[in-house]
Amino acid sequence: MRRRGWQAMAMSIAGALLACVLSACGQAGVPVPVVTGTPALVSDDQHECRHAHRPDRQRLQLPAPQGGWSGHPQAVVVLNALAGEVDIRHGQRDRCGTLADARTLDSRFRAGVGTVLVPERGDTAPIRIEYDANPLPLWRPIVQLGEPTPVQRADIGRFAIRVGSLAVVLTLMMSALLSFVATRERAFLTYAATVGVLAIWLALLSGMWAWPRPWLPIAGFAVEAMVGLAVMLVGATTLALVRQSWLRRRTPQVERAVRWGASALVIAGLSAPLLPPIALAAMSVATELGFYLLALGFAGVAVTAIVQRREGGASLLAGVLPFLAVGALEALAPNALALWKVEAFMLSGGWLALTCSMVLTLRLGLLRRQRDEMTRLAQTDPLTGLSNRRAALEHLEHCMAAAHASGAPLTVAFLDLDHFKRINDLHGHECGDRVLRHVAHALRGAFRSADHVARMGGEEFLVILPGADPEHARLRVDALRAVLSNTGVLLDKPGLTVTLSTGIGALRADDAGVDGLLQRADAAMYAAKRAGRDRTAFADALPEFAD
Ligand code: GH3
Ligand code: MG
Ligand code: MG
Repeated sequence: MRRRGWQAMAMSIAGALLACVLSACGQAGVPVPVVTGTPALVSDDQHECRHAHRPDRQRLQLPAPQGGWSGHPQAVVVLNALAGEVDIRHGQRDRCGTLADARTLDSRFRAGVGTVLVPERGDTAPIRIEYDANPLPLWRPIVQLGEPTPVQRADIGRFAIRVGSLAVVLTLMMSALLSFVATRERAFLTYAATVGVLAIWLALLSGMWAWPRPWLPIAGFAVEAMVGLAVMLVGATTLALVRQSWLRRRTPQVERAVRWGASALVIAGLSAPLLPPIALAAMSVATELGFYLLALGFAGVAVTAIVQRREGGASLLAGVLPFLAVGALEALAPNALALWKVEAFMLSGGWLALTCSMVLTLRLGLLRRQRDEMTRLAQTDPLTGLSNRRAALEHLEHCMAAAHASGAPLTVAFLDLDHFKRINDLHGHECGDRVLRHVAHALRGAFRSADHVARMGGEEFLVILPGADPEHARLRVDALRAVLSNTGVLLDKPGLTVTLSTGIGALRADDAGVDGLLQRADAAMYAAKRAGRDRTAFADALPEFAD
């Protein structure tokens, strides 16, 4: 009845879907347009300049070429003006914009504040640029002048690199979060948090945090946040790199010291918004130079690891190499670096995050394999390689639950070697061990792959046979007996005979735990011993267990 109800419901849903598809097909010839948006009320062509012409603002003039401007359009872009409004002027044209709010940017330029001016042919008045002094001394503004098309193309190229790098870093963060949800490994969470901070820092550095409109609630604190987060990132990165290098195992004190250092840097980073501009600038310079030195130090650690054939050297070197190159350029060719410094940092940061992610995944994979191996060892009998008692009981519990649920039969066979003590006494303990290994091997061969064979201790074995009845178990044990009859010949011990007594018990509907079933099989095995050994007894045939 209930089933018919479900069928009726499924039919009506399918019918409704079909009706929708048919009605959509009916309209397919005339696609209906989707109209969105509202009529423009004001012109956003030109953004009002809001800055006051304060005397402390930086002023720059781009002089006209000899003989005056050519009369062709001139594109001007100001990049990396981290604070305040940029003003580009010529004659009556006055374009203002700020990186902290992309709504104020000329839509033809996305990475910087730019505009296109058309000075009259022969005009000699310079293009005037005004901007707030950059609060971070090592991040210099760039002013680019030229034909609109190539300037615009370069600007879009920068924008693409910035968006791409940020997307990579955010993807790494999301992937680490998903890995944490799947594995509960805290290392993934720490990594995701660090990479999340890196993503925010890169967004602040590139102005992406304000594109297409500000999406971080830090307007007015962007520079302070940039410096503070950079300090924290240096701490977190140092800790991560120490953890993935051989330093960790060699000298645990180093890791402890770095952990303290990283905590101190996080506190220093949090205090950045309280610092006066001069201290903020000093902190920014110290952080950047300190990071280059750290990259150099880690490159040394990595090269040592490679020379001494320790693991992890190559990945560490690969991770820090781009930043090392950036540091070298900062020292040797600062002007060349300045043109692409933001992009260089974004690509290097994304690359470092990527290599750390790879190392983390590899390391956790190794730990997992080691843990699996330990679990396997904890469930295995070292002499025979069979499951041990603990694993057997766990497996029996599992099989009993499945058999109760499905109603299929379940049989266990309890096997004990006869007079094994004598074998030890006559042929030596070493020979006894060989017999146990041989019996284990024969047991594995005599039963189906679905049956579970375990050594319960000493010379006692248990076989769990899901889906089998006691008679099937007896036949298998008889086959085993035949195999064991020539053990003396196989082990080259004339006079050695191996026989066993077996008790077979079957699962009953009222068996709650494993104990009852095991006790019945054990009692049957002792009955076989009492009856003269080298035989099989059924628990159901014993008077105390008969129904
Ligand atoms: P029964 O027929 O009544 O079972 O007699 P039995 O001698 O087999 O039984 P008993 O329990 O008296 O002795 C078991 C012997 O198994 C005693 C012990 O020294 C031996 N044994 C237990 N574990 C090992 C082992 O790992 N290696 C060897 N070589 N012997 C073992
Ligand atoms: Mg025994
Ligand atoms: Mg025995």
